[in-house]
Amino acid sequence: MRGFFKKILGGGEVDCDEVLRLSSDYLEEELPAAKQSAIQFHLSKCGPCKAFVETLASTIGLLSRLPRITAPPGLKQSLIDQTRGDKGSSPS
Ligand SMILES: [Zn+2]
Repeated sequence: MRGFFKKILGGGEVDCDEVLRLSSDYLEEELPAAKQSAIQFHLSKCGPCKAFVETLASTIGLLSRLPRITAPPGLKQSLIDQTRGDKGSSPS
């Protein structure tokens, strides 16, 4: 049913699946302007997708190129803490 609506809308709207699929192209700004803004619009109303794209952006180090997406100061540290926690949580 969602595919049916997608056809009617003619690519002006994107759904979660498409956002996830296109997220790296979106971050690289390799999509047509209409698609970029369609994804931007989706992110503005879809928390999970926004969180995914922001995490992906920080992971591939593109945050500095994306003024619209700002990394919370604690994000990097918390990722580092998580990584360390996974590897060395044995009390000594
Ligand atoms: Zn979504």
